[in-house]
Amino acid sequence: MDYQQILENIYQEILPYAKEGKQADYIPELAKVNPDQFGMCIHTIYGETASIEQADTRFSIQSISKVFALAMCLSIKGDELWKRVGKEPSGTAFNSLIQLEVEKGVPRNPFINAGALVMTDILLSHLENPEEDFLNFVRAVSNNQTINYNRNVATSERENGYLNAAIVNLLKYHGSIKNDIEDVLHFYFLMCSIEMSCRELSLAFLAFANHRRKFDYEGIRLTSSQVKRMNAIMQTCGFYDEAGEFAYLVGLPGKSGVGGGIVAIHPLLYSVAVWSPRLNSKGNSVMGIKALELLTTETKESIF
Ligand code: GLN
Repeated sequence: MDYQQILENIYQEILPYAKEGKQADYIPELAKVNPDQFGMCIHTIYGETASIEQADTRFSIQSISKVFALAMCLSIKGDELWKRVGKEPSGTAFNSLIQLEVEKGVPRNPFINAGALVMTDILLSHLENPEEDFLNFVRAVSNNQTINYNRNVATSERENGYLNAAIVNLLKYHGSIKNDIEDVLHFYFLMCSIEMSCRELSLAFLAFANHRRKFDYEGIRLTSSQVKRMNAIMQTCGFYDEAGEFAYLVGLPGKSGVGGGIVAIHPLLYSVAVWSPRLNSKGNSVMGIKALELLTTETKESIF
C-alpha cells in the first residue's frame, strides 16, 4: 500500500473544506492558534510510515489525553474502574451535565468530561506524583522525552472553565470525587494541555493498535484484552454525540480533542493521527474527519 501517495491525494481532496468550521475559542489560549493548519501521519505496526503537511507541528491534544488516562486507570484499578464510570456511549456533548444529573454521579463513559474528571480523581488518589507520573507514562508510550504540558493553556482553561467546574461540583455532591475539586480541575486541565504532533501521536497510539505487543510502560501494564477493550471504548465513545457518524464515515476506533486532533486505530494494522483546528458543531475537526473518511475509503481498510 502506497500510503504516502494516498495521503497526498487525500490532501488535495480535502482542500475545499479548508475554511469550514472554527477553532475552539472557549479556551482563550487555543483561540490564538492559526486555524489554517493541517497535518497527518500514519504508522503501520510493520514500521511503515507516511506523513503530509504539518505532521510535525505540536498542538494541544486536549481530550485525546483521556485515552492515556484510561490506560493508567485500567492498569491501576482493573475492572473495579467500571464501578465509578460506565462504558456506554453518551449521545451527548463532551461537556454535558444532563446525564450526570439523572445517573447520580456515575458518568456514562470515561471519555466525556465527567468521566475523565472521575478518572482524574482516581489518578490523584493512586499516584505518588500525579503530574510527573502521568507525563512520564505519556513520554514512555511515545518513546519521546520532550513531550510536555503547556501550563499557559491549562491556566487559560482553568480561568474560564465554568462548565467543568460545574460538572466536578455535581460529581462531588454525589460522592464521586474523593479529592479536593480544585486539585481535580488543575490536574485535569493539565493533562488536556499536553502538546504532541501527528507524528508523535500516531507513533504513541501504535501501543493501542497492536494488542499482541506487550503493554508495559513505566509500570503501567495492560493485558491484551484490556488494550482491545480500550479500542472498543474508543469506537463507541471517542467522538461524543458524533460517535455513530464517525463509525459510519470512517469505521475505526479513535479519539478526538478540541485542539483539532484526531487519532484513529486500525487494530493490528496501523495508527493514524490528523490535525486541523477548525471544528464542527460537535467539537471534532472538520478536515480531520474528512481525511480519515477518505483514508479508509481509498485504502479499503477499515474494521468493517
Ligand atoms: N479541555 C477540554 C474541556 O474540558 C477538552 C474537551 C475536548 O477536547 N473535547 O473542555
